[in-house]
Amino acid sequence: MGVIQFLPPEEARKIAAGEVIDRPAALAREFLDNALDADADAVELVIQGGGASLVEVNDNGGGIARDDLEIACKTHATSKIRSLGDLETARTLGFRGEALAAAAAVSRLEIISSVDGETAWRLSTGGGEEELRIEPARRVRGTTVRAHRLFESIPARKRFLKRDASEALLCRQIFTEKALAFPRRSFRFTQDGKPRAFFPAVSSYRERTAQALLPNQGEAAFLHEITAGGGGFVVTIVVGGPEIYRAHRREQFIFANGRRIAEFSFQQALEYGVQGAFPNGCHPLGALFIDIDPGLADFNVHPAKREAKFADSGAIHHAISTALRVFFHNLLVAKARGLEVGGRCGGHSPQQSLHLLAEPAGGTPAMPAFLPPAGGAADTQAEVEPGGGTPAGLTAAPCGSEGGSPPLDRNSDRSPEKSAAPFRYVGSAFNLFLLVEYDGRLFAVDQHAAHERLLYNRTLEKPVLKQELLVPIPFATEDESDDRFLEAHRGELDRLGLGLAGEAGAWRIEALPALWRAGDGETVQAVLGLKTAGENIAERWAATLACHSALRDGDMLDGESARRFLEEALALPVQCCPHGRPFVAEIKKDDLLRAVRRL
Ligand code: ADP
Ligand code: MG
Repeated sequence: MGVIQFLPPEEARKIAAGEVIDRPAALAREFLDNALDADADAVELVIQGGGASLVEVNDNGGGIARDDLEIACKTHATSKIRSLGDLETARTLGFRGEALAAAAAVSRLEIISSVDGETAWRLSTGGGEEELRIEPARRVRGTTVRAHRLFESIPARKRFLKRDASEALLCRQIFTEKALAFPRRSFRFTQDGKPRAFFPAVSSYRERTAQALLPNQGEAAFLHEITAGGGGFVVTIVVGGPEIYRAHRREQFIFANGRRIAEFSFQQALEYGVQGAFPNGCHPLGALFIDIDPGLADFNVHPAKREAKFADSGAIHHAISTALRVFFHNLLVAKARGLEVGGRCGGHSPQQSLHLLAEPAGGTPAMPAFLPPAGGAADTQAEVEPGGGTPAGLTAAPCGSEGGSPPLDRNSDRSPEKSAAPFRYVGSAFNLFLLVEYDGRLFAVDQHAAHERLLYNRTLEKPVLKQELLVPIPFATEDESDDRFLEAHRGELDRLGLGLAGEAGAWRIEALPALWRAGDGETVQAVLGLKTAGENIAERWAATLACHSALRDGDMLDGESARRFLEEALALPVQCCPHGRPFVAEIKKDDLLRAVRRL
């Protein structure tokens, strides 16, 4: 007799069920999905013992009729689609008809449901009791689903569960995800009899994100909501400003039609979009809610639906990064104009900041963005002398070195008389700040950071002055992806002042921007590092170039150069360095008066 035998149906069911339900959090996800699909506007998740003892979801949705109860627990029984073709239009979270059947295979399942609030039925099945029972019960309209004693009959799986606290945390994460995606429904979470979270229904993603992710509600003012869109999709982006940055990416969420998905490219779009507004190594907190025509996406890729395929993911990526880039540029401009003093939102709500952004330069600026840029309208970038990348007439003498030729020393046709700065340059402090008095207020300008911004803007706006190298810098690539990158972007890099020659494996840098000051090793590293900049190659290169060439701490400017420099720096619409640090800080007169007890 052969050794191959058919598994008994009960065993086969348990194995298949493990695909859908691998831990308590999966039960929580499936039951919450069902409650949301039933149009419940109040949903509650209850767990005990990390969910292994009990996962329960209560809802006030449409309920399940007596005749449907029994069928609901069978594999591939669903009320949501009739054929695969229906997926083209289905907007429900569930459609595979597997969850309740899987829950019954791996736990003791109990469902109490009422369609009308008058008659109710209780179903119990699974958990080793073969027989399925349905009996009358009492319940208001809606459904309670309970899974008791998960994996009790499958010790091999039970062993793989983590400690209760860890499993509970995973359940809590699912709860948070679902709550984020459905702000107009109320959500409650109870763990071991203790209420853990309650989010009343709200009318926007922004408000729900604040409830779920910002326990310190004072921070809610730094959350912004932006909408982007394209053919067949709309993305609502909720993103935290630089005031509430994170050192990790764990608080970035991507949803498509109410499901959280793992989609690296959209997360990347979020990071690209905020580049320059956040300091290096800091990440935004944010959630992207993509609402897409179901015909343009396939969610039937993964049993837990954590992955999706999109007909045109490039268009979605582009919409996200572009909307964010424009938004953060405007936000920084508004801040520089003093609509938000001192780098804080000053208590006005994000809606207000959005409103302010829509207004042209109005109001009396309170921060020192008081100078109209050289070329006209207040919201165009400041003009910088061609070829120099420096403010007119700027001379910088490195501290302690008499003859050191400052990288920024350029001739200019602007005479001192043309300078009509409405501010008074007070002097320099600590070898790195330029002090400015304006309108009865005192400001300290970080000379390195401000100069970085000037150079950065210039690199992006004007052709970069290139210098052929007498001796090219040879370098080897690490792998084929480096070669492909250099090959594909040769033209773009050339426009940025980077002349490359060579081919796979053996390359040479033949020209560099005239302002570039770095050793060969560092230069090669910077060039290859551009590979990770994605669509922001120009911005990344401009930031690197600016950082290398900008005035350093300790570089001393003479009075007239400092004034000219300030004139340009303070007229910049964005008063942050390319890495997102502000370059102007106010020294409050009141603070000084208080310090000498005059107040
Ligand atoms: P699916 O959600 O993929 O349809 P499930 O196994 O999760 O499959 O559920 C089977 C069916 O049971 C659903 O299609 C739905 O009709 C019904 N159902 C499950 N949970 C609920 C609920 N909380 N409220 C109303 N109906 C429910
Ligand atoms: Mg379901």
